[in-house]
Amino acid sequence: MSSNVASLIQYPLPCTECKAYTSKAAKDLMRDRKITCRVCSNVTRLSDQQLESLERTLQHMAVCGSRTKSDTVKEPQEEEELVD
Ligand SMILES: [Zn+2]
Repeated sequence: MSSNVASLIQYPLPCTECKAYTSKAAKDLMRDRKITCRVCSNVTRLSDQQLESLERTLQHMAVCGSRTKSDTVKEPQEEEELVD
């Protein structure tokens, strides 16, 4: 089950208006397919490409989490921190 992963992962997406990144639980993103910017409150809809990318990330993490217990688990470093 990847639903557990989906509820834990906070997935960041850029606002189409102000380009600020807002994170939202992956499970909510897949359900709503949109995210409300925390800076300007603009609602950004996920493109098919973004949704696909999100699902791939979740699958990857679900597989890694269940398969490699003794292996070294790499932290995904995909989040881009904005520098103020
Ligand atoms: Zn914004």
